Order: sequence, then C-alpha cells, then structure tokens
Amino acid sequence: MASWLEQLQRELAGRGLAVASIPGKGRALIATRTFFPGDVILNQEPYASTTNKILVGSSCDHCFTSGNLRKCSMCQVTWYCSSDCQKEEWKLHQLECRAMAALTEDRKKMLTPTIRLMVRLVLKRKLQNEKVIPSSSIDNYNLVDALESHISKVDENQLVLYAQMANLVSLILPLLELDLKEIAHTFSKFACNAHTICDPELRPLGTGLYPVISIINHSCVPNAVLIFDGRTAYVRALQPIGKDEEVSISYIETAAVTKKRHNDLKQYFFTCTCPRCAKGYEEDALLEGFRCKNQACDGFLLPDSGKKAYTCQKCSVSRDEEEIKKMRSEILQLSDKASSFLSSGNKAEAGSVYKIIEQLERNLYHAFSTTLLHTCETLLKIYMELQDWRTALAYCRLTIPVYERVYPPFHPMIGLQFYTCGKLEWLLECTEDALKSLTRAADILKVTHGTKSQFMKELFGKLEEARAEVSFRLSSRHGHDE
Ligand SMILES: [Zn+2]
Ligand SMILES: [Zn+2]
Ligand SMILES: [Zn+2]
Ligand SMILES: [Zn+2]
Repeated sequence: MASWLEQLQRELAGRGLAVASIPGKGRALIATRTFFPGDVILNQEPYASTTNKILVGSSCDHCFTSGNLRKCSMCQVTWYCSSDCQKEEWKLHQLECRAMAALTEDRKKMLTPTIRLMVRLVLKRKLQNEKVIPSSSIDNYNLVDALESHISKVDENQLVLYAQMANLVSLILPLLELDLKEIAHTFSKFACNAHTICDPELRPLGTGLYPVISIINHSCVPNAVLIFDGRTAYVRALQPIGKDEEVSISYIETAAVTKKRHNDLKQYFFTCTCPRCAKGYEEDALLEGFRCKNQACDGFLLPDSGKKAYTCQKCSVSRDEEEIKKMRSEILQLSDKASSFLSSGNKAEAGSVYKIIEQLERNLYHAFSTTLLHTCETLLKIYMELQDWRTALAYCRLTIPVYERVYPPFHPMIGLQFYTCGKLEWLLECTEDALKSLTRAADILKVTHGTKSQFMKELFGKLEEARAEVSFRLSSRHGHDE
C-alpha cells in the first residue's frame, strides 16, 4: 500500500500541486500547473476545530453560523444551529460529550479553545484508528504528525505551560491512555500551524487545524489567500501562479512595517525573506513616516545622520525633531483621553477626540502611514456604531487608497472596504456611488471569496438592486424615447 505521503502527493497532483522541500524553508506547496486569479487552489475541512467562545455559544460547532443556536442538552457545552448539524458531529461529539458532562463546573471553565481543540484531535485520531470515522489522503493523523513543532526553540515557561495543558487534557479524558509528552508537543504544533477560522468579513470565529493548508508558507506579498466558508478553508489565487511557482498566503496582518510584521511572525519561528521584506526600507519610511512640511509635497522623510531633524526625500525641506516630538506627545495625550471615553462607552465624545487626533496626525504623518490608517479605521467603527452614516462613509473612503497601496490588488480587505462604502452610500441614497463601490467590491471579492457562499449571494443581490435603481433613475431622467 502506498504511504500516506505518496497518497497525499497523488491527491495533490490531481489538483495541480505538489509538496516540495525547500532548503532553509522546510516544506512548501508548489503549483504544477497555472492557476488564475480566483481559482481554488486547495480546499479542506479541518482535522479538528473549535469555536472561540465555548460556554456562551457564539457559533454552531459544525457549520459555524451564528443564528438560532441551541445547547447540547447533555454536556451543556457545545452549541448547534440545527439537529442536522448536531447529527453530523455526533460520532465525534458523543465521546467528547460524555467526557465534558462529567466535568465539574470549575473544570468546565478551564475548557479554553486550545484545550478543546486538543480533546477533539485526540478523539478524532482514536475514532479514525477504530475506523468509526473514515480517513482520507488529506484527512489523517499522519499529516498532523508531520507538522513542524519547533519544540527545540520554545522557551522553558512555555514548555511548562504545554505540560500543564497536556495534564488537563488527560483529566478531561481519564479513560484514554494518553502520551502526555506527545500532547505537549502537539500544543507546540498548534501554536505555529493552527488557523483562525474567520467569517467572510474576516472576524474571528474559531480555530482549526488544516494540516495540508499548513504546508503553505507565508509571504508578506502572497499570491493566494485563505478564506473560510463556515469552517471549510479555501485557498484561492490572487494573481496568476505559474507552473513550479510556490503558493504563498499571509499568516499576519500585512498592512504594517517590516519590524512589526517580523514581530508578528515570531510565533512561527522563521524570518521572512519575501520580496517586500528584502527591500523594506523605503516602504517602511512611507508606512510609519512623517509627512513633508510643505503641504503640497507628497515626499516622505528620513532621519538625518545626526537625527536632529528629518529631511524630505523629494524636496529636501527638513522638519525639526523637537517639533515632531511635541506633536507626538500631544497626540499621545489625546489618544489616552479618547480611549478612556471609548472604554466608558461614551462613543460620541471618543469620536470627537479621535477627529482631532486625525487632524493632528494628518499634519504629522504621511498620507499612507499606518498610524493614520488605524485612526481612520477606529473613526469608521465608532461612527458606524453611532449610526452616523455620513461621517462613517467619509472615513471609510479615506482608508481605501491606503489599503490599495499596502495590499495586493485583489485583497479581501480592499473588497470588504468597498462593500462597506457601497452599503453606506446606498443608505445615504448616493445610488450611483453605491453602484460603483459595490461593483468594485464584487470584482475583488469574487476572486477572494468565490461566488457561491451566502455572503456573496447577498452582495450580488445588493449589486443588482443598485443597478436596477440606477437604470430606473436614468430612464426616468431621460424619458423613454432616446
Ligand atoms: Zn450548524
Ligand atoms: Zn454534548
Ligand atoms: Zn515578508
Ligand atoms: Zn517635500
């Protein structure tokens, strides 16, 4: 019989893919044919998954939708949207249910998503061994076994924590004979291989282990994107990917400077050497840089050798370090004030202070700075919650050029932001603008999200509505005889 690796390679070959080993990088997923933007490169169900919120019930354990949830009456821990979903999960949940029902209330509180992911992984492995649950070439424990754990680089405290977590798993599953060392090791695999399951708008819902998708390496300028429909993971091409080219996705938020990205990548134990990281410097000066004193100039500043001033790289005008320091501390003070308003629930006051911050930042930072971007994102969120659609729209529009600068052309964040813009314009009855924005949203999200999900059907519905409204207005404006 063919080994699991041969079976995996055969399965992948059928999809135009192969697993290769790249020196210094480990395993990688390589295209063996051309993929075009929007093509599904790979899709996979999780080997194990869990929702983020366990006891309160935020999404269905099987399909990850959030409406109409009911608690499993036996364990009082898992939630389902329907009896169909409950039935689908029953073979696995049956064992988990019995174990969890036996827990004291205090122990139940210790069921973090990570612990629960491990419990489910252990149970699935057992059930696949006993052939109660079928295995396949992309769904078997050998694939989990082959994942990198980087255990030799994990620090002492973390190892102690993993050992304690393994103990807890054995307390939850007292009837199984568990290899605690192996379980601690698998927790280390979770840290660098598990994926956050998000809804179509990229809000986190849970965690899953997708061992074939874990083969795909990171790039800060990825050629593919990982998007979930329910808990099914889809990797789609963002740009043409040629034969023999490596498929890459991004593990982190890429709208950030090199230093921040490398810090976020620490948990994966590698240093990114993608084309963006390789040049980094000039882009970083833009993303975290100060603007030129000359309002008409769009140059970015770099510190002088003595660091007493920053000089524009385009027109050579300098800004004094003291002046920059003063502005920064003023912004910092206001930020403290704004976030305390926000945490006390006073959104209107928080909004007014953030507006002042935004104006100050516009004088200090370059238009593409991520600091300014985050302020606009915060303002968008606040005014959406306040249902002040006009102000929300203004900030939504300000974020788009920055997104278009920092993300590849077909990136879900750009598509989602156009979608938000379109929905706001529709509410404000700017129908023609709405049609433009929704069209842009659909063009991008078709590539990143496919066309079949409920989320996309809703977008297409809104787009049709806007199109009908615009052509109705045009025809009533021009009469019927043109
Ligand atoms: Zn469901
Ligand atoms: Zn149950
Ligand atoms: Zn990189
Ligand atoms: Zn300048």
